[in-house]
Amino acid sequence: MIIGIPKEIKNNENRVAITPAGAQELVKRGHTVYVQHTAGEGSGFPDEVYVEAGAKILTTIEETYAIAEMIMKVKEPIEPEYDLIREDQLLFTYFHFASHEPLTKAMIKSKSVCLAYETVEKAGGGLPLLVPMSEVAGRMATQKGANYLEKPLGGKGILMGGVPGTLPAKVLILGGGVVGTQAAWMAAGLKADVTILDVSLPRMRYLSDVMPANVKTRMSNEFNIRELIKTADLIIGAVLIPGAKAPHLITRDMLKDMQPGTVLVDVAVDQGGCIETCKPTTHENPTFIIDDVLHYCVANMPGAVPYTSTVALTNATLPYAIQLAEKGWKKASQENKELAKGLNVIKGDVVYKAVAEAFDLEY
Ligand code: NAD
Repeated sequence: MIIGIPKEIKNNENRVAITPAGAQELVKRGHTVYVQHTAGEGSGFPDEVYVEAGAKILTTIEETYAIAEMIMKVKEPIEPEYDLIREDQLLFTYFHFASHEPLTKAMIKSKSVCLAYETVEKAGGGLPLLVPMSEVAGRMATQKGANYLEKPLGGKGILMGGVPGTLPAKVLILGGGVVGTQAAWMAAGLKADVTILDVSLPRMRYLSDVMPANVKTRMSNEFNIRELIKTADLIIGAVLIPGAKAPHLITRDMLKDMQPGTVLVDVAVDQGGCIETCKPTTHENPTFIIDDVLHYCVANMPGAVPYTSTVALTNATLPYAIQLAEKGWKKASQENKELAKGLNVIKGDVVYKAVAEAFDLEY
């Protein structure tokens, strides 16, 4: 199959859909991989490394779309790309259709086949192509939080692990899923005093088994949250209710119970946030302060570490990309139900229920 890797054109997007190592695996299997000139540069992969791996370089985005049977991307296509997409072309990328009507309509019009990373689903319900970005965001949440706890950056002026003879920082994590677990590992490694709140007892049993002694678990309810926020130094929001907006576990009125310089990192901001006062921010302008409490709510955290994110994403997408390249989307999705769940739009028809419902479209 002919696979095209365009350079991402969304503002500040430095990730690329495939690493040179991933390109090599596809080439080894007899496929042709075309990478647009400088597509990997933002992630630390210059054209020469792709060429060494057996890929070919194309100068323009137009050529890349024109030649490829399958386009692999990171972000959803944006307007200047809409007219480059061809009928029957397979697009394998993040789409997040349900929150983007113009994109949905454009992809219907293109008569392409849209297989969305975010809806590829394991038999047990896991979302394998969202996990790597949650892992990145979770680890980064602690790193960012530790940084903003420094006094000159607006925090309380407390070191995560303290030093002998001082108390460590108290880190409160709302939600013990992928993001929360990774955030907890990092905070525990820095020797902070960590508490994870979740509503799932089986999940807390698991965490309690695998986490070190400086990580405790508590049931997530208003009573416990009101108690714990009074002394927390860093609070990380990592709650997810699949398909729904995040619940506001920390409400506006609770801010007055926190100590000045408390740092809030709401990773769940992309689902509306689990802290009421969080509004999406950008890497250029990541924080704001309300009631002396510092808020960090960047909606695209993995974008700041494109090298790690690109490698992590390729590790997860490559096995699926290989199946699509070997068999074509139809046979691959018939044989692998995980891939079938990723199909959102097929040649003008919306085939994913939640997307059809979001815009009242035929399904
Ligand atoms: P996940 O499904 O793995 O974990 C969510 C956890 O929240 C589960 O353990 C669940 O039991 C728990 N939960 C549900 N209701 C709760 C409640 N009331 N109190 C406490 N816990 C509760 O999800 P995840 O992959 O960890 O993702 C978490 C959030 O991070 C999502 O909104 C995701 O979209 C977001 N995210 C954001 C970025 C970013 O850049 N900002 C990047 C990746 C993921």
